[in-house]
Amino acid sequence: MLSGRMMEMPLTISSVIDYAADVRSDTEVVSKCVEGGVHRYSYSDAHKRTCQLAHALTSMGIKEGDRVATLAWNGYRHFELYFAISSVGAVCHTINPRLFADQIVYIINHAKDRILFLDTTFIPIITPLIHKLPKDLRYVALCDRKDMPDCDIPNLECYEELLTGQPTSFSWPNLDERSASALCYTSGTTGNPKGVLFTHRSTLLHTFGMMVFAAEVGLNSSSVVLPVVPFFHANGWGLPFASPLVGAKFVLPGPGLDGENLFELMDAEGVTSAWGVPTIWLGLLAEMRKHGRKPGGFQYMLVGGSAVPRSMIAEFEIDFDVRVVHGWGMTETSPVGSTTTFSPAMRSLPIEKQVDLKVSQGRRMYTVDMRIVNDSGELLPNDGEAFGELQVRGHAVMNGYFEDEEASDAALTDDGWLRTGDVAKIDPDGFMSLVDRTKDVIKSGGEWISSIDLENAAQGHEAVKECAVIAASHPKWAERPLLIIVLEAGKEVTGDEIKQYLADKVAKWWLPDDVVFVDEIPHTATGKISKLTLRKLFADHLLSTV
Ligand code: ADP
Repeated sequence: MLSGRMMEMPLTISSVIDYAADVRSDTEVVSKCVEGGVHRYSYSDAHKRTCQLAHALTSMGIKEGDRVATLAWNGYRHFELYFAISSVGAVCHTINPRLFADQIVYIINHAKDRILFLDTTFIPIITPLIHKLPKDLRYVALCDRKDMPDCDIPNLECYEELLTGQPTSFSWPNLDERSASALCYTSGTTGNPKGVLFTHRSTLLHTFGMMVFAAEVGLNSSSVVLPVVPFFHANGWGLPFASPLVGAKFVLPGPGLDGENLFELMDAEGVTSAWGVPTIWLGLLAEMRKHGRKPGGFQYMLVGGSAVPRSMIAEFEIDFDVRVVHGWGMTETSPVGSTTTFSPAMRSLPIEKQVDLKVSQGRRMYTVDMRIVNDSGELLPNDGEAFGELQVRGHAVMNGYFEDEEASDAALTDDGWLRTGDVAKIDPDGFMSLVDRTKDVIKSGGEWISSIDLENAAQGHEAVKECAVIAASHPKWAERPLLIIVLEAGKEVTGDEIKQYLADKVAKWWLPDDVVFVDEIPHTATGKISKLTLRKLFADHLLSTV
């Protein structure tokens, strides 16, 4: 081999905040605070406080490889934690507060966290669990002395006091880019949550990969970016790194994620690009209809994390003139795996055709290779027809779970690809369409019915607010689809009318056997429809066709 003559510089997370301080110094980070009010500062201020926090962490005895946990909404202190913890060589373990109490106890113990930084809103969640958490775990409230709560957490420390008086620069350690930087547990719909352990290198390469589609989702130094996706959900989809790098104004929404709060914040701050799961956009859409307009400045959105109904994409694109990018990903892929990246020819297609393409989960991210295989592990063609398990590999794809060899073995193929648990097809242009999750697909008489496609069709009905399709058992066909619907306020429709509506939209044998109406559909900790809970709730449902 002829070695190249280039410098060897590790790809470390500290380089992102250093760059932002140097080049994006006057760009704002705006946060809606848990304690009320709005906080504003610049990336340069964020850098200074990150350094102060780094000093605080080292004086608390945090060493390379130690796990430091956060239980927090999107806000400036959480942003500082993201950079300070990883940059001193420790591992930033973001905890999803919507997990069940037992899961929170499991992951804090499994991760062996040394410190837990928490927003004061989460004190009632943690207090009853303390006796089950590590004895030497230290607790820090993310607030000022005056906002310190009166509570039962022993020796609760104050974040702002830890920072006071610390130097505003830090000489970052020379880390190996392959060392662990962050830890995020997937919600574990079955069994215990599994930890994905990111490296500095994977995080930076994933961020660079995002630059490939940044123009299409309006991510640049003129943009105002709103991560509605929480920082505790798979690296906040990479935005805590991509936004400071491109120099976008960063608007952090705190706990107010309902349509009304989002609309107001987006209007006030001139948000141009907003990212989140479909459930969140249902709330914002309702608010936009009420106002008869979109929030001023709103131009781009990234939606993903679960299937996005066509009707939602069409409404944003056509009625409100917002460019939608649909993405697919997993915590295990850092998380962005694919986005609806267009060629110029695709951008000049009629809008309805563009919407059709955006219903698919899009084309692979630069850092991800994709393939589909059948049950015997044979490669299937990318012809837009054949479907099988989606498998991925790449620069920012996990090669095993944190200290869980059994789960790691199950997740990887013999030739080192990650099994996603998703069933998909890929067309000749590289657009991947998710047929279903392996465990959600409805197996009717040996044939498969895609719950996603059926939901997508039903969601187009004007009376349907939210819907889900699950398999109900059937003596002859093994499984048949059951459609569960939450109606829009004030709207009425019968199950038969829904079936008639679907009749020309899906194959006849796909039509749901029953349609049931409920007040609410349960969601998982990451805001997705919880099919597991629905399957339990409707376990005894006797289909009218039986
Ligand atoms: P959790 O299971 O904790 O929510 P992830 O966020 O890692 O964890 O979930 C990844 C899964 O979410 C994917 O494997 C896929 O099933 C689903 N998913 C993600 N994006 C989409 C999308 N755009 N359309 C359909 N399903 C999606």
